[in-house]
Amino acid sequence: EVAEISIKDIDQIGKSSFPLCMRHLFEKLREDHHLKHGGRMQLGLFLKGVGLKLEDALAFWKAEFSQRVGSERFDKEYAYSIRHNYGREGKRTDYTPYSCQKIITSAPGVGDHHGCPYRHFSEENLRAALGKMGISNRAVEDVMDKVRNRHYQLACTLTFEAVHGTSCDAGINHPNQYFSDSQKVLQ
Ligand code: SF4
Repeated sequence: EVAEISIKDIDQIGKSSFPLCMRHLFEKLREDHHLKHGGRMQLGLFLKGVGLKLEDALAFWKAEFSQRVGSERFDKEYAYSIRHNYGREGKRTDYTPYSCQKIITSAPGVGDHHGCPYRHFSEENLRAALGKMGISNRAVEDVMDKVRNRHYQLACTLTFEAVHGTSCDAGINHPNQYFSDSQKVLQ
């Protein structure tokens, strides 16, 4: 069962337990107070999977977006799709968070921040992002080696292992699995 998380814990939990794809979206959202559709879907459904309740999700996104577009426009143009993700609008489908496979094969365009950093970042940007996660030069080289061979999920698995100082034998195949495995290690 998924535990609930609250907005006040999100930054701390993000730093310790989000995979790089979600850390990146989260940082960009905080920086730009905006994300394009693909990013809102990828991060929004991930946060839902992590245990952010609908009311908290609305407050979280509103706090950022209203700094950019105003709260009225947020309520009019963006709140619907968040409720939609939680199955409260339209066909009332309860949408599930994206798998690594889906994220890796997505095609982010200019100004998009969704996708998988191991697949979609330049080498320079990926090295900088890994450095910010505090992993050793040696581990960065091992990750880059997997990336060159297009083993993106293995690259993510090595990152997980370097960050947590423990092995991850199952490998990473879903951002929410990365999160729950991380929480298990940290608890
Ligand atoms: Fe995210 Fe999966 Fe890519 Fe890791 S391998 S960064 S969890 S999409």
